[in-house]
Amino acid sequence: MNVLVLNSGSSSLKFQVIATDLERIKQYQDDRICRGEVEDIGGEAIIRIQYRAEPSRTLTASLRDLPATLEYLVRYIASDQSGIHEIKSSTDIHAVGHRVVHGGEQFKESARIDDQVLKGIEDCIDLAPLHNPNNIKCITAAREIFGKDVPQVAVFDTAFHHTIPEQAYLYAVPYHLYRRHRVRRYGFHGTSHRYVAFRYRALRGLTRQQTNIITFHLGNGCSACAIKAGSSIDTSMGMTPLEGLVMGTRSGDLDPAIVGVIGRKEGMSASEVETLLNTQSGLLGVSGLTNDMRELQAELKEHDDRRVRLAIEIFCYRAKKYIGAFLAAMNGADAIVFTGGIGENSPDVRARICQGMEWAGLRLDAAKNQELIGREGLISTADSKLLAYAIPTDEELLIARDTVRVIEGVPHPS
Ligand code: ADP
Repeated sequence: MNVLVLNSGSSSLKFQVIATDLERIKQYQDDRICRGEVEDIGGEAIIRIQYRAEPSRTLTASLRDLPATLEYLVRYIASDQSGIHEIKSSTDIHAVGHRVVHGGEQFKESARIDDQVLKGIEDCIDLAPLHNPNNIKCITAAREIFGKDVPQVAVFDTAFHHTIPEQAYLYAVPYHLYRRHRVRRYGFHGTSHRYVAFRYRALRGLTRQQTNIITFHLGNGCSACAIKAGSSIDTSMGMTPLEGLVMGTRSGDLDPAIVGVIGRKEGMSASEVETLLNTQSGLLGVSGLTNDMRELQAELKEHDDRRVRLAIEIFCYRAKKYIGAFLAAMNGADAIVFTGGIGENSPDVRARICQGMEWAGLRLDAAKNQELIGREGLISTADSKLLAYAIPTDEELLIARDTVRVIEGVPHPS
């Protein structure tokens, strides 16, 4: 089954076509046909597409919105010009899997999209006003292009966290705010945490039940997840993706009174402060330079800039605090797993986060840590009691697999 996987943002669309089915899933023989992304939708868009191991191609086209982008993309993939032999027409795409950011309390697992599911995703717009509308646009556009006979599946960022217990998902605010407005922790990056947990247990030959780990997804957005007996029991992101770790442009945890203080002192409304905390803070806000960790590390090496150093130190210190918090929440764990652009590629950040954790039995192997960049493997020493792994995430693969499993009616392991 050729599954088109779509991950839509406000002005971007990431996509992959993955051939997979139940047998291939069992044999780990999913076949990635092509992948790419479209940026600057709404103007002169840039389309990058890579077919198997061939060099990536870059195209440009004037694409006014998401539906136009998807139509262009499907036409291009199916054209002779693309050279993608497996897809000769849009009928060679057999299913579509969508990353959907917010599934609220309703969606506890991936779901085949029908009118009722679409309505459910619409009901969650309130919870993710920046994300769910794009996901809905993308689903509607795919329905138009492929027709109702091509099954579509929604895979939710929040679903993996539905096992978090009440004591961890409720905030200590008047309870009626939960009843009236569903104010609670939902958590995000669920597909990524779930994928690396699955890889961890495959690497160690463990069962779900034996999986007790703390996962760190460190990308542009960052979150930590406490996974006990294979299930998420707590996570750092909250009702929105603003809470928790320091991120590229997001502050993460802060004293909630600061919102009022900034508002009064700077003459800003609550929603303006919220925007500032989401888009002007984090690594960018502290360094005053960039939200990009790689650039910050290069800058630190070259100029040893104080604010750049501070941004990196705050980022790592705050991540480290979550190891302590989650070790306590879980009554101990067996491993820490790093993933996401930073977690996969930055030995320096991993080392800073794990520094001084010998008391908890965690010892990084400096050479292994340095060596494992963009590859999966163990980065702790042989005598480390708390293990550490770097595992590249693959949300698209999990979305393709869930799409198959939902269509075939096989319940997926969470
Ligand atoms: P997203 O969360 O948008 O999927 P990514 O997972 O691609 O983002 O992560 C992007 C982050 O990863 C950026 O801050 C980038 O600088 C960082 N990153 C990528 N490669 C490296 C590297 N070699 N060293 C340090 N940081 C890196």
